[in-house]
Amino acid sequence: MTRIALCGVAGRMGQVLRQLIADEPDLQLVGGIDRESLDGEAAAQLGCARVYTAEQAAPLITESDVIIDFSSPVALRALLAHDPGTLAGRALVVGTTGLTDADHALLDDAATRAPVVTAANFSVGVNLLLQLVESAARVLAEDRFDAEIVETHHRRKVDAPSGTALALARAVAHGRAVELATVRRDGRSGEVGARPTGEIGMHAVRGGSVVGEHRVHFFGEAERIELAHVATDRRLFAEGALLAARWAAGRTAGRYDMSDVLGF
Ligand code: NAD
Repeated sequence: MTRIALCGVAGRMGQVLRQLIADEPDLQLVGGIDRESLDGEAAAQLGCARVYTAEQAAPLITESDVIIDFSSPVALRALLAHDPGTLAGRALVVGTTGLTDADHALLDDAATRAPVVTAANFSVGVNLLLQLVESAARVLAEDRFDAEIVETHHRRKVDAPSGTALALARAVAHGRAVELATVRRDGRSGEVGARPTGEIGMHAVRGGSVVGEHRVHFFGEAERIELAHVATDRRLFAEGALLAARWAAGRTAGRYDMSDVLGF
């Protein structure tokens, strides 16, 4: 039995995860973490015996095999701020996006004591797309093909561009053996001039209830290649995160991503 603590339990992803965990005989939700600590009926409505704040979650963490986090960078930082021993022997699966370099440094530190799986997108299809985009970028050279990434998400998403769009941009840059920071262009407005060779454009569209759509365009003079992924149900991210949770439980400490979990 793998015991799971869910950070962001009251959120959209938290509730999908909770329902999936309830249907899996080898997984047990031992408690939740969110903005408010809850017990009794209020916690039961979220599928938990108890909900802790991230700051007070040490007893729950030590009772878990895996902590799955789909919350916010602030909550993740609070989780990682616990005494270093708290996380030792557990696994951490992080889906939260909008993380800074400093957050990744905190995760690197946690990965010296625990297996840490991070993914901007836990869908199997998106992780395949990342590989396809990197291969395409290797062939579709920057002097002949302009790469532009367009992502679309629901109106409540708070970070832009999406973590997946950034991962796709890194895949293009990696395929072309360039540093993303030197060629990245976030949107265009005003007198921006002609498009420089090698730029990787990123554009975020927000509206309605769109679960997540990512398109990578390679525009040539006489042809255009598009690689796309369209998510229609956030259940797919939750299924990938549970795959990662089972894979990570009991594994050696270290930083991992979905290519490790999926064996790509
Ligand atoms: P949401 O806003 O519906 O849920 C977030 C939950 O986290 C809420 O219940 C909120 O109260 C809680 N939370 C936020 N800050 C907190 C804090 N400081 N302390 C305690 N709890 C806190 O969002 P969502 O759609 O469920 O997405 C959550 C995160 O997961 C976002 O970063 C989103 O981009 C990311 N996400 C990742 C993937 C993936 O595959 N990696 C897929 C979907 C969403």
